[in-house]
Amino acid sequence: MSQKKPEKLIDENDVRSDGRKLNEMRQVKIEVGILGNADGSAYIEMGKNKILAAVYGPREIHPRHQALPDRAALRCRYHMAPFSVQERKSPAPSRREHELSKVIRESLEPSIFAEYYPRTAIDLFIEVLQADGGTRCAGITAASLSLADAGIPMRDLVSACAAGKVEGRLVLDLNDVEDKGGDADMPLAYMPTMNAVTLLQMDGMLTGEEFEQVLSMALEGCKQVNQLQKEALKAKYKVVKEAAAEKEDEGEKEATE
Ligand code: ADP
Repeated sequence: MSQKKPEKLIDENDVRSDGRKLNEMRQVKIEVGILGNADGSAYIEMGKNKILAAVYGPREIHPRHQALPDRAALRCRYHMAPFSVQERKSPAPSRREHELSKVIRESLEPSIFAEYYPRTAIDLFIEVLQADGGTRCAGITAASLSLADAGIPMRDLVSACAAGKVEGRLVLDLNDVEDKGGDADMPLAYMPTMNAVTLLQMDGMLTGEEFEQVLSMALEGCKQVNQLQKEALKAKYKVVKEAAAEKEDEGEKEATE
């Protein structure tokens, strides 16, 4: 949601325009397995961002010429709904959406064992319902969970978070006004167990020293996101386990009656 830029993005007490501290991430809410018709799905709210991710596959690939002989083809579509920003966005895929689809796919490819499923497709859809800066990171976080939810064997979850520079100060997880009015933004995707970065982009200018500080802030952000991802995955299986136990109890009751 683009908002009017406040006069100051950071006040004299180091408080940001949305009330956060410099190294504070936005509120994150994650749910796994919420779409009945997809093989895997996840929903994330990161501040005002609201994003759905859905996965189909591994499944037969069409058109056939896209088949890869040695692994599954991960195909990714990042899309912003027309109502996701204040001015209606054209539903047609923009240049930006094409680029984000590509970088998101590349950030997730190293995490999956695509070689287990040669000549198939894994189709990933990221639908931004409401945007407020940092949608590629929140999209990657949800997409990685939807791949896990689809049961695709993975080396690690991919967790993403940006950090950057606003009014000369280094900050974690920029929102839309900070992204637009700030000096630099660095989205990062990371596999914590593998200690591997799968996406690193940068917009704006930073000194060498600032670059290192922003990188370590973003890494810390990714680690926080990873904890929340794991909790969300566990929460889904807790519900499944409880439902199975309930069913078992009912079965036992019926048998004794
Ligand atoms: P990211 O969402 O990963 O930060 P960008 O830096 O390209 O990607 O975009 C920053 C923010 O700009 C988006 O999160 C969204 O809030 C806003 N934005 C992007 N595209 C549009 C658009 N077509 N109309 C209005 N706002 C947009």
